Amino acid sequence: MTRPAYDAIIIGAGVIGACTAFELAKKGWKTLSVDKLPESGYGSTSGSCAIIRTYYSALETCAIAYEGWHYWKDWKSYIGVEDDHGLITYHDTGCLVIKTEHNKQLSRVCEMMDRLGCPYEHVAPEQIASRLPGADIRQYEPAKRPEDEGFGAPTGPAVSGAVFFPCGGYVNDPKLSAHNAQRGAEHHGAEFLFNAEVVEILTENNRVSGIRLGDDTRIAAPVVINVAGPHSSKINALAGVDAAMKIKTRALRHEVAHVPAPDGVDFEREGLVFSDSDISTYCRPEIGNHILIGSEDPECDRKEWVDDPDNYDSNFSEQWNVLVMRMAQRLSGLRIPTDTKGVVALYDVTEDWMPIYDRSDLDGFYMAVGTSGNQFKNAPVAGKMMTALIEACENGHDHDRDPLDFHLDYIGQRISLGAFSRNREINQDSSFSVIG
Ligand SMILES: Cc1cc2nc3c(=O)[nH]c(=O)nc-3n(C[C@H](O)[C@H](O)[C@H](O)COP(=O)(O)OP(=O)(O)OC[C@H]3O[C@@H](n4cnc5c(N)ncnc54)[C@H](O)[C@@H]3O)c2cc1C
Repeated sequence: MTRPAYDAIIIGAGVIGACTAFELAKKGWKTLSVDKLPESGYGSTSGSCAIIRTYYSALETCAIAYEGWHYWKDWKSYIGVEDDHGLITYHDTGCLVIKTEHNKQLSRVCEMMDRLGCPYEHVAPEQIASRLPGADIRQYEPAKRPEDEGFGAPTGPAVSGAVFFPCGGYVNDPKLSAHNAQRGAEHHGAEFLFNAEVVEILTENNRVSGIRLGDDTRIAAPVVINVAGPHSSKINALAGVDAAMKIKTRALRHEVAHVPAPDGVDFEREGLVFSDSDISTYCRPEIGNHILIGSEDPECDRKEWVDDPDNYDSNFSEQWNVLVMRMAQRLSGLRIPTDTKGVVALYDVTEDWMPIYDRSDLDGFYMAVGTSGNQFKNAPVAGKMMTALIEACENGHDHDRDPLDFHLDYIGQRISLGAFSRNREINQDSSFSVIG
């Protein structure tokens, strides 16, 4: 069976895939989003902590994150239509980040915020507890394993301070955000096909010409976009574009813990997004007065790379306990429950933990991949950047030779999309962690 041709096929209906479909559809592209799972946002998006923050290690990622915050603040206007599942809620709590030697006391981050006009406030050590209910401000760095000598023993009387970033918070339901973007896209004519696995990228005369599905359906389109999350390297291999890329993607297993807040602390109402490189852990409020805890990937932890994203251990392991024990150093009274709740999911990681938003060596084949556990927040901007990039390249622009500039309308800044090239040099300023 041959289906009618589309202008573009998007592989993946996670939050970035759905926002890409939305943005292309708004510009009049006839798009088809194909996902092997039953609904939008079912992949790694559903496991996301959905934290929105403006601080990263590179100016371009800070810029798109600050731009992206404006979309979450006014999500209803961005989506522009009703969704039968309802719209997400964005909690604009702000983010508190601990200054450490490891993050250079946040001096580089604050310089980048100054360049972008993104607000922040320095917080003295003795003021931290007024922002983070129940905080123990003693210093513990470097992060250790519980079996290491000195785990849980302070290495100094107090951390050197923190920075509060008011533009930040979290989204209550990451999966729903992809569904909202799907409904927005459909309103502009986009189509979505679920339970359909792409097994071949079709080419003709050195150019992409469509896809083949597992049931042998062939769907023609002159543009195909890889937004397959942790499956991105598999799709790039199908297209035969992976070997020539300088920056590669790889799936990494991660656990997130959900635990009750300490007694007497209303973290759900008074908590905020908290990033603590002194103990290499981050957290945010979760419903039911829970605290969601994730890792900032300290060197002492083994990385759990996954070769086959369809086959990994989805049970909690000692990683879960380590997360909670580390956070218990900072949050006095945090208990370590015996029933493990939270998420086990995969990041799609690049060598420098920055994403790839780019074309490929195969004409017509594009990718929004390598989102490294930190690009949920940038989905609406990524959709816009991909649309601009695809339109320019399809109109003959040589993006590899002359990287496209992109204007961030809310914050009034222009960035080079070359920063997200598949052929960039590894960004040595990166945190080489989920911070990006
Ligand atoms: C545990 C965790 C916590 C995170 N926390 C944050 C955070 O706090 N803040 C933040 O900004 N980011 C965070 N992230 C990252 C963020 O969630 C991801 O970058 C984002 O959700 C990726 O969206 P996506 O659309 O690219 O991919 P996905 O949501 O993974 O979607 C890819 C889709 O492609 C489909 N697919 C794959 N292969 C095929 C195929 N062959 N055929 C058809 N379909 C296919 C899959 O079924 C899937 O639905 C986190 C990620 C994880 C895993």
